[in-house]
Amino acid sequence: MLHFHHYLGSIGDSVVNCRERMLELVFPPACASCGGALESSGPASLCDACIGQLGEFAAPFCFGCGASVPVALPEGNTCGHCGGERPRYHRAIALAPYDGLLRDLILRAKKPHGELVAAALARRLMREQGDRLSELDIDVVCAVPMHWRRRLRRLCNSPATIAEVVALELGVPLATDLIRRVRATKPQYALPPSGRAENVRRAFALRAGYQLDSAHVLLVDDVLTTAATCNEAVRALRRAGARDVSIAVIGRSYSGR
Ligand SMILES: [Zn+2]
Ligand SMILES: [Zn+2]
Repeated sequence: MLHFHHYLGSIGDSVVNCRERMLELVFPPACASCGGALESSGPASLCDACIGQLGEFAAPFCFGCGASVPVALPEGNTCGHCGGERPRYHRAIALAPYDGLLRDLILRAKKPHGELVAAALARRLMREQGDRLSELDIDVVCAVPMHWRRRLRRLCNSPATIAEVVALELGVPLATDLIRRVRATKPQYALPPSGRAENVRRAFALRAGYQLDSAHVLLVDDVLTTAATCNEAVRALRRAGARDVSIAVIGRSYSGR
């Protein structure tokens, strides 16, 4: 996949990396959630007490949403919440249910100056699921884009920060603007499940100039609510030549945001 560097550039000196190094100089290592002291994990980390409240997923996993399932599923099969249907992507990997402290942190990560919390969540995802993500042999990482109108309102693009950390730790290129929303969609939680696929239909387009020949793309978001949003982005990536797409998210929501 050498030609990616031509199109995507290098992430050797990532923004997050620089930011973390600066934070390290200014602040003593503190938990990004509660501010409590940390032994040695450095900034953009969580303390053991906060980690203990996250309810992180453990094997075996659903291929569609990354949640824990009681018994191992055959390759490509999904849990009851995913409807048992085969997803359009290879698999989704998630840190924990979108609930309690994890929900609070994901909401904080969207607020102004939420980057530290977003980075801490991404690092937690890599700590727990990094091996499985590495095994996927990802060629390029990108974030599910927010439409610019929502970006203005939210101020902090937490999926982009999470994607930066994931790409950095996997050691693969990050394509910051690979896909874009071509029209504003309503928030998926505002719609009944039956309306969600229609809401995001043709919502994404690939930016011109990217070559995805036979690439395995990792699509990163903060929360996975239904496969519908992912499926539409996956369709756009496949149209552009991606061989496969996998999903990485922090939270798995069962009831909307
Ligand atoms: Zn803490
Ligand atoms: Zn599932």
